[in-house]
Amino acid sequence: MSKLIIVVQCHLVMNRCSGYNCMNAFYKREGTFSAYGSDTRYMLITCGGCCGAQLAAKFEDVTHHLRRSGENKDDVVVHFASCVCSDNYHRPPCPHLQYLKDIMVRKGYPVVLGSYISKKTSGKRQTGEYESF
Ligand code: SF4
Ligand code: SF4
Repeated sequence: MSKLIIVVQCHLVMNRCSGYNCMNAFYKREGTFSAYGSDTRYMLITCGGCCGAQLAAKFEDVTHHLRRSGENKDDVVVHFASCVCSDNYHRPPCPHLQYLKDIMVRKGYPVVLGSYISKKTSGKRQTGEYESF
């Protein structure tokens, strides 16, 4: 099977964001998605809500389905969406970011920080208004 990218979105932000810009950046292979091949698959999930503990159960489910499809974790790359791991328009980074990272380490999935990167927000990072990744 081809590689599978799983973007983890902030559950709170999900209430106002459809994830369109992340999906669009993926299919255009922009920014953090630029290196993936054309047959790479895309999936968007949320962390499950504060404090992020639900993420463990969600990735147990992913692991279960991978096994049933004859795939393995090496085919998966997890991206924490920019709304989880960066200082941005919505708010500062998730206060549970390290906890979320620890869960992914325990579940055995590699994590890349960032997904869709807004040009406007990048400008504000450069001027110091927002902290960098
Ligand atoms: S744990 Fe972090 S990423 Fe998840 S809903 Fe709460 S603030 Fe958002
Ligand atoms: S990074 Fe932006 S587009 Fe992607 S899920 Fe978060 S708020 Fe939505």
